[in-house]
Amino acid sequence: MPMEPVAPMSEEEARAAADADSRQLLSAATVEEALTVLVEVARRLTRAHQATVVLTPAPGRTGGASVTSLSRAYEVWGGYAVPSGGGRARRGRRAATGAAEPRGRLAVALPSNAGVLYLFDREVGDFSREDEVALSRLARLAGLALESARLLREEQQARTEAEDAEHRAAFLSDASRLLASSSLDPKVTLDTLARLSVPVMADWCFVDIIDEGGTVQRTSVAHADARDAPLALRVREFPPGPEGSSHPTTRVARHAESLLVDDVDDAWLHRVSVSEAHYETMREVGFHGILSVPLVARGRSLGALTFLAVRPSRHYSQADLETAQDLARRAALFLDNARLYREARRSVLLRDEFLAVASHELKTPLTPLQLRLQWLRQQTRKDKPYLPTSLVLSQLDVVQRQVDKLSGLVHGLLDVSRMSSGRLSLHREDVDLEVLAREVKTRLALASSQAGSEVSLTTHGDVKGHWDRARLEQVLTHLLANALKYGAGQPVRVELEGAGEDVVVRVEDAGIGIAREYQSHIFERFGRAVSERHYGGLGLGLYVTRQIVEAHGGTIQVASEPQKGSHFEVTLPRREST
Ligand code: ADP
Repeated sequence: MPMEPVAPMSEEEARAAADADSRQLLSAATVEEALTVLVEVARRLTRAHQATVVLTPAPGRTGGASVTSLSRAYEVWGGYAVPSGGGRARRGRRAATGAAEPRGRLAVALPSNAGVLYLFDREVGDFSREDEVALSRLARLAGLALESARLLREEQQARTEAEDAEHRAAFLSDASRLLASSSLDPKVTLDTLARLSVPVMADWCFVDIIDEGGTVQRTSVAHADARDAPLALRVREFPPGPEGSSHPTTRVARHAESLLVDDVDDAWLHRVSVSEAHYETMREVGFHGILSVPLVARGRSLGALTFLAVRPSRHYSQADLETAQDLARRAALFLDNARLYREARRSVLLRDEFLAVASHELKTPLTPLQLRLQWLRQQTRKDKPYLPTSLVLSQLDVVQRQVDKLSGLVHGLLDVSRMSSGRLSLHREDVDLEVLAREVKTRLALASSQAGSEVSLTTHGDVKGHWDRARLEQVLTHLLANALKYGAGQPVRVELEGAGEDVVVRVEDAGIGIAREYQSHIFERFGRAVSERHYGGLGLGLYVTRQIVEAHGGTIQVASEPQKGSHFEVTLPRREST
């Protein structure tokens, strides 16, 4: 760098000192360091009691930085106060310190309007023209020093950002590899994903998944600090709440809205906590930043992925949000695939089970059928011309019953295949449901006495409507037969109720009940909640029932508890909606 002649001092020493000062100034690594060197050199060069530099505030920031160097005497007094932002210097109140009399002041602007350098009170004499020249030169150097410190800072910032981006990319690729290659056990995979996220993305990471019943479950919790294990147990207890809950990530999980808060404070915690214990837990975690993104697949939110920042240096930015969203998309895709895979496997299992049960059910009537036919054939040999008619008739009765059973089964299967392909047509007529229910009850009298269950039928109000009689008979038969079959010999209640435009049918038993996890499956094709070894049945009755009810524009629901009993409720609109 070309050096200007150092004026006004002409000695070798002064030149060497000036060179050293320039080097020191230009090698400052930070703005603060450059300013500190600047005021020290300026004060020494001009033999002033005080040198203060005030930087012009950067756009959008209030107040500029100011750095002061004081002589020992002024140190005791405290020096002049210089308004930050480069206002005019004003003289402060001087304490009785025995400091020398003021010797004027000097102000020099830094290049590019970067700030102003003030000098106060020369130790001897007044500031001279030479001082001013020396300071101007110093100010130019300071301008360069500040510029290079700023560049350095920007470069460092850019490097940090690039490193951050690199970390994020590496994390994303690790996570994607995990999601792509994982065994399809969602629990294990999500745990690993959460663990992978700390500490790269967060100090805490949660995964919340909406289960089949619509409740959000906190499936995974990972934390950077191993000592937080007991706290993590408590954190698990606060997954996003039901619709409308103030929990911070409820809307993320349920409405697929991302959340980014980088200045979490006590008021915020109070606002979002669902209970005192929740507030305390969040406070103990001590996060100042939260980033939560929805797990969305095929337009549906499956849950939320949440990151917390506890470490003061960690701040969530738009870039982090995008990384998290990217990751959440991949995780949701994985979850969706795992669910489809599970469902496909379930269908295959159900189908296999169905085939086993169906062949068994179809075979059962065949054995007696074959036996009777064989017997009849033997008895009608030529050498045995006489066979009592009553005997033949009783054998034929058995044969007829088995054929009926078989044809019933085959009809049932045909029905299902027709319904599955959406070909269920109704033949509506005026039906009195009470009359129909009595008929069904009478028809099942034998089954009810065999099961040891008494059936009561009560009707409230008018229960007439415009329905397909034969189909509704099927519905009542299925529900009542099931109540007898699974009713453990306890009484069964059938209730009919006219409710405005609808008629409600309730069939209640106090039998074996249905576990919660099966309740949503029993209306599916082949859906069974019991083992085929204990109870026969194709698992088609309730499927057919639901198809018929829905074809009538109605609904069917079940409420049940294992070992307590089941309560089926069908709501049927009286007429076809137009
Ligand atoms: P299935 O022919 O097997 O009875 P359904 O479709 O009628 O077929 O019923 C499906 C499953 O629902 C049954 O296998 C049984 O596990 C369960 N289920 C139906 N009704 C009842 C009930 N009243 N109590 C307990 N479980 C029932």
